[in-house]
Amino acid sequence: MTQDQNPPIESNTPTLCDACAGIQRDWRRAPGHAELMQGVNRKEPRRQGLVTITRYVCEHCGTVWDYENNKFSQNVGWSVVGQ
Ligand SMILES: [Zn+2]
Repeated sequence: MTQDQNPPIESNTPTLCDACAGIQRDWRRAPGHAELMQGVNRKEPRRQGLVTITRYVCEHCGTVWDYENNKFSQNVGWSVVGQ
């Protein structure tokens, strides 16, 4: 048994828990995970029109996620905002 399994953490790199690390980013309709707590919605303008972005916070590791629901693009979805 070793205690040295955690690599040094860079200050600006969010440390994701396993569940967060498993989220597929920037892919439309990729699922989140069970410990994400839903926050506020906001609207943002895109080329094609307004999209809804929902804020989530992981209750496990504290990572803040945005989920963009943009029906015009397949390549948006989950992105890490910070912790
Ligand atoms: Zn997490």
